Amino acid sequence: RSERSIKEAGPPQTPHHVHVLSQLQDMFELSTSQLQRIVKQMLWDMNRGLEKDNEAIKMLPTHVCHLPKGTEAGSYLALDLGGTNFRVCVFTLDGKGGVETRQSKFMIADAVKTSEGAALFDFIADCVKQFFVDHQDTLSNGVNHKWKLGFCFSFPVNQVSINEGSLLVWTKGFTASNVVGENAVKLLQDAFTRKSLNIEVSALVNDTTGTLMSLAYSKPSTCAGMILGTGSNCAYIEKIENIIKYKGSREGISEMLINMEWGGFDDTHIVIPRTKYDYKLDSDTPTPGTWTFEQLISGLYLGEIVRIVLSDLADQGDLFENCGASPELKKKNAFETAYMSKIEIDNSHDLIKVKQILEVQLGIKHTTLIDRRIVKSVCALVGTRSARLAAAGVAAVVTKMNKLATPGCIVGIDGSLFELYPNYQNRMRSALVEMLGMCADNITLEQARDGSGQGAALIAALAEE
Ligand code: BGC
Ligand code: MG
Repeated sequence: RSERSIKEAGPPQTPHHVHVLSQLQDMFELSTSQLQRIVKQMLWDMNRGLEKDNEAIKMLPTHVCHLPKGTEAGSYLALDLGGTNFRVCVFTLDGKGGVETRQSKFMIADAVKTSEGAALFDFIADCVKQFFVDHQDTLSNGVNHKWKLGFCFSFPVNQVSINEGSLLVWTKGFTASNVVGENAVKLLQDAFTRKSLNIEVSALVNDTTGTLMSLAYSKPSTCAGMILGTGSNCAYIEKIENIIKYKGSREGISEMLINMEWGGFDDTHIVIPRTKYDYKLDSDTPTPGTWTFEQLISGLYLGEIVRIVLSDLADQGDLFENCGASPELKKKNAFETAYMSKIEIDNSHDLIKVKQILEVQLGIKHTTLIDRRIVKSVCALVGTRSARLAAAGVAAVVTKMNKLATPGCIVGIDGSLFELYPNYQNRMRSALVEMLGMCADNITLEQARDGSGQGAALIAALAEE
């Protein structure tokens, strides 16, 4: 496979460069049998997580036990926190499967992500106020209406009821203090009180759960929701009798959505071959030794892995031989994951776009065509590994749900990697076929867009019933 991706970039021209690239291939490529081994381990870990707390894959009960019927109606507020943007939305459900949406997007500065918890939640409450200013002309109910709100909070939460749950650990670069261990709903509700907002938080929802629910609103055969974006994770429908650790009442309940938190997979039983570059990346995260699977897959990290590889190759004299690395290339997170997309899509003979990114954006003084081909190959290796690992995750989940033998299982996937990264979907698909053979035909990977907020609104509506 990556032999092909390397050919796409054009062969590097000296035996030495061929050797350098083949070493990188050995490090980053995952064979079919390695993927199958990963699937097997993931299934084992999923079962463990359903039995006990604090396992590598947390398998968190969501307290969502029904898919939407499509008849839910009314206007609900929703917040979506935990991706690249923070969003405030109102969804108006018409009771016939139709939805009208109003939303405002806000950037959350790193300073807010890493500040005091109360400051983060105050910022959120201020954004809600701003939302009502933005939409005052078109919303029939304003800020003083007694709103019900679905809070999509895309972090691992130990949920004790539909609107109560404590943050287990921050991910994706958030580190705000005094939030871990606290009830996220209470923190939000308190901020609303401080800002005199008359809003009731009626549901706390993960983005994967939201994605599953919102797609199921129009496509009832949706059986899993997945995020391949800034972070990565999956939620799916599990039989209640398999959720051994669940302590709540089981009366009248046959199934429940499980928020897997698969980002923590491979933290304890290591089956995924990791490179020295992955270890370097991990050692610079707030919680080294954890959240490995997410680091190998998701958008927040892929560009940084590429940067670490390139800077190492430059130090070894295998890349940018004429001028060495630039100060910019030595800066943490200077290589955006979006550059990988632009580089992979550049099929021009001289790799003009690659040249521009390296020389203009990253300040490398002079690049040769060989340099650019190597850079493109590194992106292909890192991007392909991510897609194949994500596919291994899909294979584990559909196997767990017993969906291989019959057609019709829809996996809804949201996030920038799946939506925008060139060839990502094809790479996932081929890995799925390698692992599952003909059974892969029974699984549909479907693009879901902005489902998390809508799903949170739907769950708020269901909570009311
Ligand atoms: C979080 C998950 C979330 C995923 C995708 C991860 O970092 O732990 O809760 O679903 O990112 O946003
Ligand atoms: Mg998101």
